[in-house]
Amino acid sequence: MLYAELAETYERLEATTKRLEMISILAELFKDAKPEELEKVIYLTQGKIHPDWMGEPEIGIAEKMALEAIARATGLERSDVDAMMAEEGDIGRVAERALSEKKIRSLFYKPLTVEEVYETLDAIAKESGKGSAGRKIERFIGLLANATPREARYLARTVVGTLRLGVGDMTILDALALAYTGSTESRPKLERAYNLTSDLGYIARILAEKGLEAVSQVKVVVGKPIRMMLAQRLSTPEEIVDKLEGRCAAEYKLDGERFQIHKKGDWIQIFSRRLENITHMYPDAVEMTKRHVKAEEAIIEGEAVAIDPETGELQPFQVLMHRRRKYGIEEMMEKYPIAVYLFDCLYVDGEDLTLKPYLERRRRLEEIVEETDRFKLVKALRTSDPREMERFFEEAIAEGCEGLVVKSTSDESIYRAGARSWLWVKLKRSYQSKMVEPVDLVIVGAFYGRGKRAGTYGALLAAAYDHEADMFRTVCKVGSGFTDKDLAELPEKLKEYQIEHKHPRVDALLEADVWFEPAVVIEVIGDEITLSPTHTCAFNVIREGSGLAIRFPRFTGRWRTDKGPEDATRVKEIIDMYRAQLKAITK
Ligand code: AMP
Repeated sequence: MLYAELAETYERLEATTKRLEMISILAELFKDAKPEELEKVIYLTQGKIHPDWMGEPEIGIAEKMALEAIARATGLERSDVDAMMAEEGDIGRVAERALSEKKIRSLFYKPLTVEEVYETLDAIAKESGKGSAGRKIERFIGLLANATPREARYLARTVVGTLRLGVGDMTILDALALAYTGSTESRPKLERAYNLTSDLGYIARILAEKGLEAVSQVKVVVGKPIRMMLAQRLSTPEEIVDKLEGRCAAEYKLDGERFQIHKKGDWIQIFSRRLENITHMYPDAVEMTKRHVKAEEAIIEGEAVAIDPETGELQPFQVLMHRRRKYGIEEMMEKYPIAVYLFDCLYVDGEDLTLKPYLERRRRLEEIVEETDRFKLVKALRTSDPREMERFFEEAIAEGCEGLVVKSTSDESIYRAGARSWLWVKLKRSYQSKMVEPVDLVIVGAFYGRGKRAGTYGALLAAAYDHEADMFRTVCKVGSGFTDKDLAELPEKLKEYQIEHKHPRVDALLEADVWFEPAVVIEVIGDEITLSPTHTCAFNVIREGSGLAIRFPRFTGRWRTDKGPEDATRVKEIIDMYRAQLKAITK
């Protein structure tokens, strides 16, 4: 196929805004392409040479470089070309104009084929290292030498990444359906194959070579991302239990980044929710998958969350975002370690599980994952009792999660690739808030540290003072904000207060490793005050079965030696702070 046909089609597409017309224009083009060319035609029409998720380098010619190439290919002055750019504001129009005014005529002009354009663009993309910019330009000049002005318009836009024909994936699927099955009615079948593989070129090729039946048989492929299933939202556990007719399992909703992990032997690929290839950003997750997934081939999903390197506690989403970068990966990996919480299993050793119900997928996940602290299944609870679900929700929030994703356990609970489905319903807090002032809390217990914190404490159990009952009631486990020096000194500092059992004036549901007599007061700040079933501060006051807790607590560095335990922040103040927070939100 000649590139001229693509250029002509693109011109017609630009002239219309009607989707139906676009579909029929594209269908004509797709019909004309040979099956082995179709893939390339589709990628080119999307302004690419590969699906984005392959993580292959982009064509990557900067606008300035393209202007330079246009000047050199046409023999025009660079300043004239720059002036044209200032006037037109579009590299495509500049290339077109420059080529119609061109001063150099090639003696060996031969029309461009799709194959040749594609191969050259691919070669341009693959140029890297020293002098690559120059080599990219040379190759582009080579294309322009054989291009007509109209072709130059689209080639220039393609190399700088501004082709933008406005052709969406669904329009391409419609056009393929029309071209090869005579009507767009077969689109759902194509769409299903697309949802499973995210690769329009791949599906187009199967359709052109083997027909619609073969497309209906398309299965997931390790290495091609499955379009992710998304959740609907409801605001209360009651509504959710109703909607799912009591057949449900609630899972912690972690606040991190969705991972779809593909494994084929030691070859691991990680895709984000938007199907970007993020493998290179997470060498730690790659390693964990290699070690702890006991299957030769698998596709599993989970959420990656930043954790505190010392305590293993969950960190807010913003912390994880430090890992989203191109360079300095190793350093960030040390500084911001992650844990991967797995929640789905879509493929294992030749078996496509996307049409299996949730409980079976979860069982398969349990079978193939060897759990560690940093790579494990997300916490789940099967329940049809809204109250129980509510408590689980509060526990999730207090542990640093965003809420719950409640999943249907019915026989129909398949993995609905690419769909926002009622088989998954999320329950989030209806507000976001901030804790404005720090509080002074009494240390009543401690938990042993691990790793770098072996030999000292990983976290302290901290309490507020209940003046009426003269009791200390827990509000958080604080492990962040301590310097190495603080940490090293902790056991010594607290030693004189250590006791055998929980102190009679301490009210705690958590079992600490070490208990202290309430004596030492520290200043703590958090993100907000939340309901929590595991802390006893204001238990049953705001809600039956729940207390109040500080979410993401951090030591501010201030030892309040000026305060005795009874001078600590009172339970009543924490209740007031919680109410003030609610007011601030509803205002
Ligand atoms: P949202 O982005 O608010 O629509 O929530 C859906 C997102 O929650 C998913 O794309 C995942 O990244 C994330 N998530 C966290 N925990 C889970 C879980 N247990 N099951 C499914 N999705 C989860």
